[in-house]
Amino acid sequence: MKLEGARVLVTGGGSGIGRHLVERLLADGAEIAVLELDAARCAELADAAGGKVRAVSCDVSDAAAVDGALQNLFDTGFEPDVLVNNAGVIHSEPLVNLLSRGDKVHSREAWRRVIATDLDSVFFVTSRVVERMLAKRIKGVVISISSIAAGGNAGQSAYAAAKAGVNALTCTWAKELGAMGLRFVAIAPGFFDTPSTRAALSEAVLTRLQQQIPLRRLGELESLYLAVRHAIENDYLTGTVLEVDGGLVL
Ligand code: NAP
Repeated sequence: MKLEGARVLVTGGGSGIGRHLVERLLADGAEIAVLELDAARCAELADAAGGKVRAVSCDVSDAAAVDGALQNLFDTGFEPDVLVNNAGVIHSEPLVNLLSRGDKVHSREAWRRVIATDLDSVFFVTSRVVERMLAKRIKGVVISISSIAAGGNAGQSAYAAAKAGVNALTCTWAKELGAMGLRFVAIAPGFFDTPSTRAALSEAVLTRLQQQIPLRRLGELESLYLAVRHAIENDYLTGTVLEVDGGLVL
């Protein structure tokens, strides 16, 4: 698919990786819509892009909210050629915390929240967008931001399970819908220098991590944009997980 002129819907486009993708896609001639949790951030994003981005406030882990926000976009003429499932939360917590004074088991509330935000949302948004693509005979591309944690990562039960689910859905939908011309690609970042990474990991952990990465540095957001662009433009790519991790596979 040609990127220039493509209509791209990005979830969680208000900050971090999603924000970088929005800015770069826009610069390369795509038309952009965003589903983003924070209404103030939506307004700021639309402003910063000089009105060129349609940003709709929506909690993508809430099926009814997703249906409403997408209908709003479709009704105003935005028909996505590309969906980027990017919204997500990173959560680290051991299965059993022996040092805890209270309940030692992984919080069940956190488990539900992470599965809802990182996995349910991909199912809710993709099912409605694909339904629309099929109705409009659009041979679209769905790109989901996964993680190398999908292979299993100590201390990240919920996050790893959610991202493994994202990879499984990518492969399943590629097989189910390839004959209709639809493509599905997951991108699995390693560790990138984003506010969420810095919030989740201490400086000491980050330094140790960088020593384990063959390229000896955290990723730069531009390499994720290049992966997204490749997924859009390469029409023979589907059902695969692109690891962008400087050589670090967990
Ligand atoms: P981030 O800076 O926290 O950005 C996440 C974005 O998603 C924010 O704009 C956030 O909005 C939005 N969001 C969160 N929950 C939402 C919800 N329920 N509904 C709608 N929007 C929601 O995180 P990031 O580091 O850019 O991560 C983006 C994606 O990359 C995630 O899927 C993450 O798992 C994946 N990833 C990141 C890394 C990394 O190194 N950073 C590595 C591997 C994978 P608010 O700010 O308003 O909450």
